[in-house]
Amino acid sequence: MKMDCVFCKIAAGEIPSNKAYEDEKVLAFYDLDPQAPVHILIIPKEHIGSCADITPENSAIVAHIFEVAAKLAEEKGLSEGFRIVSNAGKDGGQTVPHLHFHLLGGRSMEWPPG
Ligand code: AMP
Ligand code: ZN
Repeated sequence: MKMDCVFCKIAAGEIPSNKAYEDEKVLAFYDLDPQAPVHILIIPKEHIGSCADITPENSAIVAHIFEVAAKLAEEKGLSEGFRIVSNAGKDGGQTVPHLHFHLLGGRSMEWPPG
């Protein structure tokens, strides 16, 4: 756990969150500032900074996160589709430096993103 990391604190239960799914490796919780009718963040409990820090040693968690995303999308009724986004770094618009995937759905999305 990285002591000054908000999402590590959420994963450890030190900061409350509105949970959508949890297992020993990942946590999914509702975004505080939802950008779509369904907006869930899925994070590894282990601290990984962003997509830029994925390595052969830690990449299995990404596959697991996508399995959880598919399950949540089905559970939340996103049969018309959904979007998964992971912002990395300044140009990517990342504001919390702990790897997370936004699961967005319940409305039609634009492309390209702004
Ligand atoms: P990003 O800008 O891609 O780094 O996404 C960070 C997301 O975390 C934003 O959508 C925020 O609204 C969300 N967020 C920040 N703090 C919290 C929190 N304590 N609980 C839930 N969502 C949060
Ligand atoms: Zn962290």
